[in-house]
Amino acid sequence: MSGAQQVDYAVVIPTTGRDSLGAVLAALDSGSGPAPREVVVADDRPRPGPPLALPATGLATRTVRSGGRGPAAARNAGWRHAEAEWIVFLDDDVVPGPQWREQLAVDLDVPLEVAGCQAAISVPLPSTRRPTDWERGTAGLADAWWITADMAYRREVLAATGGFDEEFRRAFREDADLALRVQSTGRRLVTGSRTTEHPVRAAGFCASVRAQAGNADNAIMRRKHGNRWRQRIGEGPGRLQQHAATTAAGLTALIAACTGWRTTAKVSAAGWLVLTAEFALRRILPGPRTPAELARMAVTSVLIPPAACWHRLRGEWRNGRSRPRKPAAVLFDRDDTLIHDVPYNGDPSQVRPKRGARAALDRLRVNGVPLGVVSNQSGVARGLLGEDDLAAVNAEVQRQLGPFDTWQCCVHGEDDGCGCRKPAPGLVKRAAAELGAPPEECVVVGDTGADVAAAVAAGARAVLVPTERTKPDEITEALVVADVAPTIEVAVARLLGRSR
Ligand SMILES: [Mg+2]
Ligand SMILES: [Zn+2]
Repeated sequence: MSGAQQVDYAVVIPTTGRDSLGAVLAALDSGSGPAPREVVVADDRPRPGPPLALPATGLATRTVRSGGRGPAAARNAGWRHAEAEWIVFLDDDVVPGPQWREQLAVDLDVPLEVAGCQAAISVPLPSTRRPTDWERGTAGLADAWWITADMAYRREVLAATGGFDEEFRRAFREDADLALRVQSTGRRLVTGSRTTEHPVRAAGFCASVRAQAGNADNAIMRRKHGNRWRQRIGEGPGRLQQHAATTAAGLTALIAACTGWRTTAKVSAAGWLVLTAEFALRRILPGPRTPAELARMAVTSVLIPPAACWHRLRGEWRNGRSRPRKPAAVLFDRDDTLIHDVPYNGDPSQVRPKRGARAALDRLRVNGVPLGVVSNQSGVARGLLGEDDLAAVNAEVQRQLGPFDTWQCCVHGEDDGCGCRKPAPGLVKRAAAELGAPPEECVVVGDTGADVAAAVAAGARAVLVPTERTKPDEITEALVVADVAPTIEVAVARLLGRSR
């Protein structure tokens, strides 16, 4: 037996009781390779009905109830009940391939810095005709990143990040959101060798219109991960802008027609027709062009644009009401705030993080808060350490404490009269600008009065986390103009807690 054969994993399957669940369990039960320590079925039917009918298998299987709160909550209920080192999430309608267990054992035999591993997903399409719009949509899953149709995470990583965000109620975006939060802590996700089939689900006439509800989840993604979230999950720009143009043209035509602006009505109606026809054609041409598909494309191409806009607006409106007042960015002093101060240190081996720093930083990262370091390093001007030494030390800080989105160090001397050395505001302003964050929505966390003064001068907020070396009058001053916290963890908890 190789090391790979001893992999310790549990499988978690959220389900609303679909018949396909039996086939998943049967596929898991077959084949060679190590069996899961257990299979946890998260029964997410809203009303407790009769127990789920599970096929008899040789697998240790148990069921937990998750109360119909959606797949994110169901998966959380599942992994929290499981105790294996790895948790493999499967949808209740996938079919793991015949070599799945053996391939999984190889996939999970990875170094510790790999936090998760996804399967290669294949979507079987009809061979005798061209795929419908719906089938092509499902086939797109094969290229999607980190989807939970078959995705393994280390349990410890799920615990550290809190798992899936239960604000996502549909089977949409909750998986990409978790992947972004895990990656924000510097951990890696990889694609494995195991193959899993994701069949095309039967869909009603208006399924593609109903699927537009996902636009509300896109609004949550934008709030949590910024405007570039689509790029970060490897997706193209989406069609919302075109849908907005189409909807605007249609609305203008309607309003103009009702108020007697006939020319405006005609022009807008023509614009709406062109945009709608273009959208419909784009969906019809690659497809089978049967009468049923043509009818479906014609009707849904009219309905999708306004549905998409409506759901996006709904999502943004909800965002506005629950907008977290979390900071736009948090900028940390380095010495005696993140790591123990070794004066003019140029030696990476002397980098020792302060207690709780990593956990506090990760908590900000998983909440989508950009992080920066603002640090005075006058040792460079004094000739006590080289710029290379400084870079090596900073790299070591990052290795131990995880990634920062910007580094700003002042290498000037105390009497150089530069604008960046704290208590001057330059470093804070530069960091804020680089992160695209307004300074007044940034928070500086540091251990001295100079950190607080630099923040105040830049228009930012500050939290002083004093050490035994912090002067008493600096603490008194900070109590007036800023905030004082006993530890970095408390400082961060307050910054995030205020948002709730
Ligand atoms: Mg300091
Ligand atoms: Zn400077």
